[in-house]
Amino acid sequence: MGGTIGVVGGGQLAWMLAEAARGQGIELHVQTPELSDPAARLATSVVRAPLADLSATRRLAERVSAISFENEWLDLGALAPLEQEGVVFIPRLESLADLVCKRRQRELLERLHLPSPRWFSLEQILTPPAALEPDDLPPTADDADGSGAEEPLPPLTPLPPQLPQGFDFPLMAKAARGGYDGRGTRVIRSQAELEALIEAVDPSLWLLEEFVAFEQELALVACRDHLGAVQCYPLVETHQHDQVCDWVLAPAAASQAVEARARNVAASLLAALDYVGVLSIEFFYGRSGLLINELAPRTHNSGHYTIEACRTSQFAQQVRIVSGEPLGDTSMQLEGALMVNLLGYETSTTAYARQRQALEALSAARLHWYGKRLARPGRKLGHITLTLKASGAAERAREAARRLAEVRAIWPLPAAHTP
Ligand code: ADP
Repeated sequence: MGGTIGVVGGGQLAWMLAEAARGQGIELHVQTPELSDPAARLATSVVRAPLADLSATRRLAERVSAISFENEWLDLGALAPLEQEGVVFIPRLESLADLVCKRRQRELLERLHLPSPRWFSLEQILTPPAALEPDDLPPTADDADGSGAEEPLPPLTPLPPQLPQGFDFPLMAKAARGGYDGRGTRVIRSQAELEALIEAVDPSLWLLEEFVAFEQELALVACRDHLGAVQCYPLVETHQHDQVCDWVLAPAAASQAVEARARNVAASLLAALDYVGVLSIEFFYGRSGLLINELAPRTHNSGHYTIEACRTSQFAQQVRIVSGEPLGDTSMQLEGALMVNLLGYETSTTAYARQRQALEALSAARLHWYGKRLARPGRKLGHITLTLKASGAAERAREAARRLAEVRAIWPLPAAHTP
């Protein structure tokens, strides 16, 4: 393994990977469609092409010793010949097979007996009109009084979709592939909304799950190296606005038992998939204990705080693993951290110069501005990480609330867009 790695993708995750690679003296080359994409500015070189362009990935492979991905919505079948030709993907394509689709993720979790929300596929509730047996036919006048007059049969109409036993509204509908930041998730509150969904989407590509009344959303970034060593970052609390991550508090106010359970889940998953690289797990925590919401085979928004707060950031860790280095220390070097996403909130194209300046002036804080060309509302334009000093969970929560208010005074939330 050498000190030259490739990333398919050029967004903020690749940008932070490129920043980490620089710090480690490792070359990082990217494949991304636009030279204005965030990672293009920091990469050693850019293969300018759409992410699904295989000949471009081949060209990228010629420049590097191993390639990883910024995003999991991959066409693994198309990539397989490259792996057979000797291109090294980290994680391997086989390890990704159960992760590139939400439905396959749910099936994987069931196979491994790991807890996740109950679900069913949208397709499964679309019953075609039943083929009637002669015995099922309504009695005709002929049967009743022998008069021989024929009654017309009722037309065969599809039955309205019925929820499987044990399910009720509200439900959460999810696109099996391609969703992110709440795009591809919809709350379904009634039979009418269910029928509207069936009309609007391809049912073979959607699943529905129970709506979980969670008390907390938690997340864990874990990593595994080539030798099978596993380490986890601290469990964190994530807070969403309109189904998009708004802010993250590290470490989470969670019991040791919950943290241990989350780490066990991560270790089981990484070993079962023979996974090499950084992997993130989103959890719901509440009355039903810890449920796995989603797996992401990559660095994750819930782990951005590690840049300041941990001895090895999630990005430095991925760079180490892809370049064949042993794992770095995942422990925290701060008492706590608050990471706040900066989502575009203005409709006019603006560089937010005044707000950025004000954020940069906040004490014990570091602004990460991704430099995206399009700043449409709801888009992740940057994040800010604030150092927390409190050592107990209750005091940390109060300190985080105070610091969040400082950020909010400068940078408001975008208007809700929930459908
Ligand atoms: P995405 O892949 O777009 O990030 P997620 O599956 O992570 O979508 O869902 C986004 C958010 O929607 C979650 O963080 C959570 O707040 C909410 N959510 C998702 N699934 C459920 C569910 N089954 N019950 C309740 N809320 C949910």
